Amino acid sequence: MAPGPSGLTPVYTHRAKSAEKVVALTFDADMTADQGPRAASGEHFDNPELIATLRRLKVDATVFMTGRWAEEYPDQAKSIGNDPRFEIANHSYSHYAFATPCYGLPTVAGPDQAADVQRAFDSFRDAGAVNVVPYFRFPGGCYDDAALRALAPVGVTAVQWDVVSGDAFAKDADAVAEQVLDGVKPGSLVVMHCTRSAAPVTERAIRRIVPELRARGYRFVKVSELMSH
Ligand SMILES: [Zn+2]
Repeated sequence: MAPGPSGLTPVYTHRAKSAEKVVALTFDADMTADQGPRAASGEHFDNPELIATLRRLKVDATVFMTGRWAEEYPDQAKSIGNDPRFEIANHSYSHYAFATPCYGLPTVAGPDQAADVQRAFDSFRDAGAVNVVPYFRFPGGCYDDAALRALAPVGVTAVQWDVVSGDAFAKDADAVAEQVLDGVKPGSLVVMHCTRSAAPVTERAIRRIVPELRARGYRFVKVSELMSH
């Protein structure tokens, strides 16, 4: 999308009034810049079972990856970013907040925000990811006009969502699945997570969501296809 009036980064949420039963599942691969020690002590910020299940079920999807995640899991970033089923979008390098308040996340100062996003793109390239798209999801979904203005030179489209899966810190896969199944409409964009640490039931929820939406006639698309209308 082209920059909007007054030089603000454009914001996309979903395909409105879609005549076609399409839905975009998006997965945030979260890891903050200060979580290296936790990963080193055995915490799993990745979710290879989830990626394997998406492949097995032949579900196209968009992964909003932090640069720090790509540094921690370069082989997975490369594999996801070379599989035509997936595209990698940008979820910042640090996963710090671009506007406050934002769930208590540390903050990236305005003058450093564009560089933080660019650094994530650099991490994807360093990992060998190829299918990288110019979309950006604000950490926590938190943004304001100042952040939209700060990122305008980077040339990304900010991507939010119209369906919250509620998978963050969820323990009940069926509750997550039902929230998604209740919320999806033609053209919806769903936010989920690709990190076992903070979203442990997402893979199980996907095993129920995918067949049920297909039975209703839905087709799974990447954000780039959803946006191409
Ligand atoms: Zn996130």
